[in-house]
Amino acid sequence: MEDTKILPQALHNAIEHISQLPGYGERSAQKFIENLLQLPKGESIETIRALLDMIDKIHPCIECGLLTEEDKCKVCKDESRDRKIVCVVEESFDAFAIEKTGKYKGLYHVLHGRLSPLEGITPDKLNINSLIKRISSNNFKEVVIATNPTVEGEATATYLYNQLKKFDITISRIAYGLPFGASLENADSFTLSKALEHKVRL
Ligand SMILES: [Zn+2]
Repeated sequence: MEDTKILPQALHNAIEHISQLPGYGERSAQKFIENLLQLPKGESIETIRALLDMIDKIHPCIECGLLTEEDKCKVCKDESRDRKIVCVVEESFDAFAIEKTGKYKGLYHVLHGRLSPLEGITPDKLNINSLIKRISSNNFKEVVIATNPTVEGEATATYLYNQLKKFDITISRIAYGLPFGASLENADSFTLSKALEHKVRL
């Protein structure tokens, strides 16, 4: 932290809180605050109000873990979705990106992260037990593993495959079209829909 003698206390507190977010160091916290303070006061207050509102209303779906405002998300509640197929993603935003392609009509399961032993993210920290429970108690025909094509995403996919292969179910992995190291939420819809179309059986 910078010299707190000249750094106003309120600024110090804000930076400290934001820099504690995973993936946010002190520099990105400072950048966020600089940008926020450059906005007209009314706009920055609206921004923070939107964040408060979001924290108050948004929580994971009790069924699939997708971020929602209700107990069950819109996908889980939609009777027209294909209930025989479940797509496993790292984060809700990956599922939102897949939805934008309009190519996928099944259900989702959100892990809320990816395996990363170095960061202490072990299988018990992820939403994996509830996936196994869902697969044992539903008549799914296929699981599509759509973790990101990164080292951690691949390790997570392999782990899931080993956990799920005992079930009488097709396990596929999206692959084609996504460059290694990319993330789903940043992929364009075309690339992502190709990746879904060309999923491979594991
Ligand atoms: Zn749901």
